Amino acid sequence: MKNKRDFIPVNEPAISVEGKNNVKEALRTGWISSSGEYIKEFEEKFAKYIGVGYAMSTNSGTASLHLATATLGIKDGDEVIVPAFTMGATWLSIIYTGAKPVFVDCERDTYNINPSLIEEKITKKTKAIMVVHIYGHPAEMDAILQIAKKHKLFVIEDAAEAHGAEYKGRKCGSFGDFGCFSFYANKIITTGEGGMAVTNNKAFAQRARKLKSYYFSDEKRFIHEKIGFNYQMTNMQAGLGLGQLKHIRNYIKKKRHMASLYKKYLSDIPGLDLPKTKSACKNVFWMYAVCIREKEFGLKRGQLRDELSLQGVETRDFFYPPTDQPFLKNYLKADDFFPNAHFISRNGLYLPSSLTITDKQILRIANTISNIYNRVGSNRRRK
Ligand SMILES: *Cc1c(COP(=O)(O)O)cnc(C)c1O
Repeated sequence: MKNKRDFIPVNEPAISVEGKNNVKEALRTGWISSSGEYIKEFEEKFAKYIGVGYAMSTNSGTASLHLATATLGIKDGDEVIVPAFTMGATWLSIIYTGAKPVFVDCERDTYNINPSLIEEKITKKTKAIMVVHIYGHPAEMDAILQIAKKHKLFVIEDAAEAHGAEYKGRKCGSFGDFGCFSFYANKIITTGEGGMAVTNNKAFAQRARKLKSYYFSDEKRFIHEKIGFNYQMTNMQAGLGLGQLKHIRNYIKKKRHMASLYKKYLSDIPGLDLPKTKSACKNVFWMYAVCIREKEFGLKRGQLRDELSLQGVETRDFFYPPTDQPFLKNYLKADDFFPNAHFISRNGLYLPSSLTITDKQILRIANTISNIYNRVGSNRRRK
């Protein structure tokens, strides 16, 4: 790496001018907490964008997931089906209620929960299926909704990585009893930290709204009808979010363009599994997530990661499966193993996927990978 300008980060946000101006305005007027005009407007516009009746802003994606499990009354003694490949917050939102996460392995190609492995995990205690649209690729919603209907289970969608992704023309987050989004700094739209829980069910929306703000009585402030949380977003964050939401279509276009360039440049390199998109799905490519098959490529994932890093290309390893997580020890049986989640966690790498990435940078990354491949190839032949 010659200088700092040659460094390509794995994922950095694009902050819109409108977002910056809204934050300034919130500060100027003193509407900086969870009351203020931007909150209502952000919730209404986000609900409309996803195509749902109700949206409740929160202070993180994790909080929006917990708000969903709590609103649905999931509790100690219950079980919730969840993918074995996701970010740990998905599992936490189940554990917070006292319920038990029951893990299902993912598909090798989309990294999403494998619907054909769900039914064997359902017991009398199962209350819900929590699906994740991992890296922006929609999960198989038809199959999942059918299983849920047959067994009378709730469905929660963790759409933290899938703003604007579509399954059969409908937006992710609009299928389940709840859809949950994150606005963390590297997500498709951001409020710094923040989240949103969406639903079409009015009673769920009302309960969630109370739960996220201390469960205050409507009649009397400082009377708490039940145990609630403080999961509220600030007006400053909502202002930033509104400014981001204005550009979401462009952001998604940008991610899809990035993916098409990577695909064009990387398709011919053996030993790289590029992300696949199933028909009927609109993939928003939150991250361009590839798997390295060592035998064909000639290097392990970690070796490629380190080589790229030396040349100024930052990448990141995939999430880890439950069997690697100390905090999940008590939720696993001794022989639990999730081969696909295990394989991709050992061999997966995100390539730089910022909204600010340029075509030239994508070409440079692809050429760097290609040169590394060619070099290790000749090493192999010399042996
Ligand atoms: C980011 C993320 C979350 C957590 O969102 P936070 O806003 O960081 O709390 C949950 N699930 C998935 C799949 C995520 O990627």
